[in-house]
Amino acid sequence: MIPAEFDYVAPESLDAALAALREGGEDAKLLAGGHSLLPLMKLRLAAPTLLVDLRRVPGLTGIDRSDGSLRIGAMTRHHDVATGDLGLASQAAATIADQQVRNRGTIGGTLAHGDPASDLPAVLLALEGSVVVRGDGGEREIAADDLFQDYLTTAVADGEIVTEVRLPSDAGWGAGYEKFNRRVEDWAMVAVCAVVRKAPDGSCADVRIGLTNMGSTPLRATASEEALRGGALDAGAIAAAAEHADAGTDPPADLNASADYKRHLARVLCRRALEEAAASA
Ligand SMILES: Cc1cc2nc3c(=O)[nH]c(=O)nc-3n(C[C@H](O)[C@H](O)[C@H](O)COP(=O)(O)OP(=O)(O)OC[C@H]3O[C@@H](n4cnc5c(N)ncnc54)[C@H](O)[C@@H]3O)c2cc1C
Repeated sequence: MIPAEFDYVAPESLDAALAALREGGEDAKLLAGGHSLLPLMKLRLAAPTLLVDLRRVPGLTGIDRSDGSLRIGAMTRHHDVATGDLGLASQAAATIADQQVRNRGTIGGTLAHGDPASDLPAVLLALEGSVVVRGDGGEREIAADDLFQDYLTTAVADGEIVTEVRLPSDAGWGAGYEKFNRRVEDWAMVAVCAVVRKAPDGSCADVRIGLTNMGSTPLRATASEEALRGGALDAGAIAAAAEHADAGTDPPADLNASADYKRHLARVLCRRALEEAAASA
């Protein structure tokens, strides 16, 4: 439970943080809330030689709304997302662990870390959001679809810093979030988020569904989306579409649930999340 020795710096600008990362080389790591990185270091599953703490870097916190779309600073805490009245993102962030974790963990940290059991990665996918990163080569935007590459592996390169999370306007969309765990503060055994937009005749104009802990990355339930999009949005159509929620997934069995049980959960939670989203659309 004691991490290997490491150096620590707390730069006061983004440029200084980028320089520290560059000088630290491949064994330098960014520190945000520390609630994923520090446990890994204590278990000696990670042994960075330098931690570059982002807490003193100005301009990385806060939530900015314009035209309904959101720009959330990477160092914004889960608590502020949970209580910020941000629709689906707030719903999901409110279920992260307990208040202590939500007070420390950050949206940039959870998205850069890319744990498929975390709540916000699948939300970013379903909302078709993106992250903005800064590196020595300048700034680039990475769409959610391109961000999550493999287990704990994202498209954020070594030497890059996530500075902002962008979520498009959710005006006209209904949303639902369903998370299954044994205790309220636990990680998701499985979670499903859904957003639905209704056509004027009440049918399903568009739908997007995100899956948590159903593979090595967060996933979209594309077969369920295709079954529902453009058709009826009643209880029967939702139930039929939800039966496809586990198509193309590869959920890991763990101490809490077998792969088959997770598949069952995905179907049940998908139906509930879609019902919730349709009712609020
Ligand atoms: C007991 C416990 C229970 C938890 N339960 C849940 C849960 O139910 N749901 C959930 O979603 N999460 C859960 N978490 C994880 C928590 O949400 C973490 O805060 C989150 O995963 C990582 O965010 P962080 O800010 O702590 O990142 P850190 O731990 O500081 O960093 C994580 C990784 O991301 C990198 N990183 C951090 N910030 C940036 C950045 N701006 N740019 C580039 N790379 C960056 C770091 O170098 C590191 O590799 C839990 C954690 C604990 C300790």
